[in-house]
Amino acid sequence: MHNFRLNIVFMQIANNKIEELRTLLQTPKNIVILSHTNPDGDAIGSSLAWAEILKSKGHIATCVVPNKYPYYLDFMPNTSSMLFYKDDTEGRVKSALKSADIIFCLDFHTMTRLDGLGDIIDENQHAKRVLIDHHLDPNDDFDLMISYPEASSTCYLVALLIEALYGTEAITKSMAENIFVGMMTDTGNFAFSTITADVFRIVSVLAATGIEIPTIHNHVYNSFSEGRARLFGYVINRKMKIFHNGTVAYMSLTSDELKRFWFQQGDSEGFVNYPLTIKKMKISAMFTEHTDHIRVSLRSRGNIDVNVFAQRYFNGGGHKNAAGGKSFMSMEETLKHFEASIKEYSREGNI
Ligand code: 5GP
Ligand code: MN
Repeated sequence: MHNFRLNIVFMQIANNKIEELRTLLQTPKNIVILSHTNPDGDAIGSSLAWAEILKSKGHIATCVVPNKYPYYLDFMPNTSSMLFYKDDTEGRVKSALKSADIIFCLDFHTMTRLDGLGDIIDENQHAKRVLIDHHLDPNDDFDLMISYPEASSTCYLVALLIEALYGTEAITKSMAENIFVGMMTDTGNFAFSTITADVFRIVSVLAATGIEIPTIHNHVYNSFSEGRARLFGYVINRKMKIFHNGTVAYMSLTSDELKRFWFQQGDSEGFVNYPLTIKKMKISAMFTEHTDHIRVSLRSRGNIDVNVFAQRYFNGGGHKNAAGGKSFMSMEETLKHFEASIKEYSREGNI
C-alpha cells in the first residue's frame, strides 16, 4: 500500500507525450474539445480550462458535449461557449468537427460514451485525435494517448499538462475555478483514495490565483432544487433495498417517480454514494429510468471492483470504485438481473 501511494505521488505525464503535444500545438490550429454524455464537473471543468489555455495561445477551440450539464454547474466560467449536440439545430457542432485539425477527447475512454456524436467524428478522418483521460481500459484508436487511470480527475491531468507546456503561471483564475470543480467533484471533495500529495500541490497553485473555494463549494453542493431534497428522502426511505447479508444496496427511480419530484437532469447525482455511509455496505447501485434505457450507477468500497462488474453485466465501465452502464430491459428485469449478477460475482470471490 505504501509503495502504491508513493508511485502516485510521483505521477508524471511522460516527457515524450508532452513533446508530441507541444509539436502538435506549435502552430495555430482549429480544435474541438469533446467530452462525455451527461457531462459532470470533471468533464466540463477540464474541457473549459483546456479550451481557455489553447485560445490564449492563438488556437481556435470549441467545446462540444452530447447533451447539457446539470443546472447547478451553470456558474462555471465560460459555460456559455459550450455546444450541446442534442440542442444544436444550426449544425454548429458538425461544422466545428468538420474543420477540426485536432480533436481532444477529455474524461472518457470509449466512443460509446458519446452516443450519436461518435458517428459524426468519424466523418473527419484527417484530424489528429488526442485522448486526455483517467478511465481504465481506454480504446486505442487515438494518435496520442494521455491516459492515466491513477489520476484522480481529468482536471488534475489538464493542470499537469498546462504546467508542463506553459508553466503554472499560465493558469488564470477562471481556468483555476474550472479545474478546481473537477478535482473536487471527482475526488468526493478530496476524500477518495485517489488523492495524493501532488493533488494538494495543484490545489495550492489554483488557490493562489484567487479562486473562492467556499463559494465554489456552495455552488456545487448547496444549490439544488427543493425537488431534489424530497426525491432524496423518498429514494432512501422508500426505495433502498439491502441484500447479500447487508453488504449490497440498490435504489431505483422510474420516470413516473422522477416526474412526481419535478426531476431535472443531475438531480439524482450523488444519491448512489449514500448507502455506502452504512458501515457494512460494500456495493451501492442506482437505477434511473430514461426514455430508451435505464442508467446504472455503481459504487464500491476498497478492493471490490465495480468497473469489471459494469463491463460484464451492464455494458459499461469506469473506475474500480465508481462505474456505470446501461440496461435495455424493464426496471423489474434489470433489478432481477442485478441481484443475480451480484450472486454470480460473489460466488467467484469478487465481493
Ligand atoms: P456515474 O455513476 O457518476 O454516472 O458514473 C461513474 C463513473 O462510471 C464515471 O466516471 C463514468 O466514467 C463511468 N460510467 C458511467 N456510465 C457509463 C457508461 O454508460 N459506460 C461506461 N463505459 N462508463 C460509464
Ligand atoms: Mn473524471
